[in-house]
Amino acid sequence: MASILIAEDEARISGFIEKGLRSAGYATRVAPTGTEALALAQTDEFDLLILDVNLPGIDGFRVLEEIRGSGSRLPIIMLTARVELQDTVAGLEGGADDYLGKPFRFDELLARVRLRMRKDETTSLATLAHRDIVLDIRTREARVGDTRVELSAREFALAEEFIRNAGQVLSREQLLSRVWGYDFDPGSNVADVYVGYLRQKLGSDRIETVRGVGYRLT
Ligand code: CA
Repeated sequence: MASILIAEDEARISGFIEKGLRSAGYATRVAPTGTEALALAQTDEFDLLILDVNLPGIDGFRVLEEIRGSGSRLPIIMLTARVELQDTVAGLEGGADDYLGKPFRFDELLARVRLRMRKDETTSLATLAHRDIVLDIRTREARVGDTRVELSAREFALAEEFIRNAGQVLSREQLLSRVWGYDFDPGSNVADVYVGYLRQKLGSDRIETVRGVGYRLT
């Protein structure tokens, strides 16, 4: 499930946005100050930021500047009650992806959110998928269908190896050398243990045991 951060100090407005986005199938979190929005936006947990200009703490333009200054390409839609052209220009020049003047109807916001999400998906070369298993290499996020799955760094690397070689049998030695590195004891059963973890998280029938040879993603 895509996750959206809403930086807005007015509870009435953030509540309205949150309710609408949740019923449209997004996970949401509200940051009521600029300081909090900035800290959360830098965690890589969100797929999009809806950023109000008038925020206590640091204002929206400064939050935008800090986020872009750190090299993040997080899609950002700015909201503002100030409808002057200068604000729009400043927002877009500062690296916002889109802009919506208050007051707005929820469907106007949703259309922009969907557009940004699609754009992000199609420009991302960092996604690996096999059937309904999707790995986002950039955010290190894993999903099975619509469900987000928490994988440790090693489990993620192992899942990545299986998806890159889907349908092929990978021996324990291959998994050990590619995922754990060359200095691992070839007699170790750590690969088998981690295949067990992945089966628990991705589904028990996803990785087949090829007796005496290794494992294969089916
Ligand atoms: Ca505000």
